[in-house]
Amino acid sequence: MSIPKAFCTDVNRIIDIVEAREIFFSQTKHPRKRLDFRCPDNECRQAHNPEVLGINYDKNPQEDDFVQRSHFRLKKGTTHLPTCPWAEISQALDELEREIGNKPYLSHLKKSEIINVFNPLSNDECDTKFTMDIDAGFLERIKLISDRRERINELKGYLKNALNSTSRLHEVVHCFKFMTPEEQKAVSLSIPPYGEKSYRSWFRSSMYCRENEQPLIYYGAANIMEYRTGYSFKFWNKSVQSDQSNCEVFTFVKRERISKLRGAKAILDVLERGIGMQMRHRYPVDIFVFGKAVLTIEKHRLDIHIHSLHSLVVMLTERGA
Ligand SMILES: [Zn+2]
Repeated sequence: MSIPKAFCTDVNRIIDIVEAREIFFSQTKHPRKRLDFRCPDNECRQAHNPEVLGINYDKNPQEDDFVQRSHFRLKKGTTHLPTCPWAEISQALDELEREIGNKPYLSHLKKSEIINVFNPLSNDECDTKFTMDIDAGFLERIKLISDRRERINELKGYLKNALNSTSRLHEVVHCFKFMTPEEQKAVSLSIPPYGEKSYRSWFRSSMYCRENEQPLIYYGAANIMEYRTGYSFKFWNKSVQSDQSNCEVFTFVKRERISKLRGAKAILDVLERGIGMQMRHRYPVDIFVFGKAVLTIEKHRLDIHIHSLHSLVVMLTERGA
């Protein structure tokens, strides 16, 4: 019953589930108001205005622990026009889930939820492609096929490739977090153009951060430091070098870069709360960052250069939740 997008009456346009979360968390008034979603098809909305449910968009992946991926779902018992493509998309996704195997493959995740391809974006301005994303041009072409069964088959073929691929690091981190250690070794993740290896091999604690390696997903507890120009993240675990010396590990993000992002408000909110918890209780945040480590001239520290802000995940830790 899932669909990739919905029409949000609060902002009067079609959005995906990540935008729904950004809109929800950008509300400063508490309690935050849940959003109202309808079918994305114009004609269908005019005829029946069927409601669409938003699942887990009101939870913060940086903070709340939830297993089920956020998504939209057609509400049971609502009527869509026979020509509405979203009812067919929903059916295509249902059939795919059944074919892939709906029973948990990993300890917590459904097989259809496992990301096998992470496409890191080269800059912040690129729009992220997420799982289940459907290109508008493709939808237009699909409409030209007269047979319903054929349309659904086309959609399935398209979605099958899209389902396990994302350009948002937090979706990859979500999978990693819910895998057992064995599963992290067994499941492979491809990061073009750098290659394919197991989840375990891509994820590296800051303790084992080295210069001149290919980009990896570095992680660990870190402190946030706020400067006029931006935010610096200092990992708690120093990296041990081959000559046994220790190196501090940092990553830095310019304020200017964050403010240009669509979800800037939500990111700044997490950073602010992280800093607050740090000051009150000395709690760190957990960070995951995809990038390359570069040794600074003084050789006292390693800086992880991130590809884009979509390759940085900041989590308020359970210690601090
Ligand atoms: Zn509809």
